[in-house]
Amino acid sequence: MEIKVLEKDDSNMRFLVKGVDVQYVNTLRRLMLAEVPCMAIDEVVVIENSSVLQDEFIAHRLGLIPLKTNLDEYNLPEECPCKSEFGCNLCRVTLTLDAEAKEGTRTIYSGELISENPEIVPVKENIPIMKLTKGQKLKLEAYARLGRGKKHAKWQPVSLCAYKYFPKIEILEKNCDNCGKCVEICPRKVLAKTDGKVEVRDLMACTLCQDCVEACPKNPPAIQVKWEKNSFIFNLESTGALPPERIVKEALKILDGQLKEIEKQIR
Ligand code: SF4
Ligand code: SF4
Ligand SMILES: [Zn+2]
Repeated sequence: MEIKVLEKDDSNMRFLVKGVDVQYVNTLRRLMLAEVPCMAIDEVVVIENSSVLQDEFIAHRLGLIPLKTNLDEYNLPEECPCKSEFGCNLCRVTLTLDAEAKEGTRTIYSGELISENPEIVPVKENIPIMKLTKGQKLKLEAYARLGRGKKHAKWQPVSLCAYKYFPKIEILEKNCDNCGKCVEICPRKVLAKTDGKVEVRDLMACTLCQDCVEACPKNPPAIQVKWEKNSFIFNLESTGALPPERIVKEALKILDGQLKEIEKQIR
């Protein structure tokens, strides 16, 4: 297997995987979506709520705010030695919110949640939670825990996790008259006409839609779009809960653990 990171920043990662079959990359994708844990608010104790929104509605919105996660410091509740339904400092983080609209209508943002651990905070401070009108109050205590996406989407550390086959575009020069129709139709600007000649400008951007092949007036078409069977471009966007490379590493660790478990069972 060959892996090459094509792009990476704080929340996105694009990498090339060569020499594996589709089942393998799909397994990785499913593990990232459903098994890699992250923090999310799981329980809310509402102390005062004089807003127009019901407690359950507010709790649901709080649950969907992505929280920065430290996987090395916290245990999954089911794996924590405390074995307590309520949790302990190793499997639960408390966040509080105490907001009031004194002057007039105002929006309550995620940045107003105060966490007992400064490392476990909302990934963005400007996520709107709700609005309060003059005189309304909201006071609550929220408990965040680690969880997995297979139980609830709020525990998915990724907002995008997809792969596509590595494209292969061939322009048959002896049939092509460089009319440029394929360049015009391509929605991803993969092709370009330089010095009167059509060429591939950005191969990775190709979505294999085949529009260029259909637009070609030649019969058979002078352009062919295919894909490499065992090569994939993987795109990953983190919610901000974990760095993208950590999500990939955790997925591989989980896969390794699952394979070892199979080996143990059949011994
Ligand atoms: S549409 Fe066909 S003939 Fe025209 S430039 Fe593209 S490949 Fe060549
Ligand atoms: S297959 Fe679609 S995306 Fe790829 S080059 Fe052709 S038109 Fe562009
Ligand atoms: Zn615990």
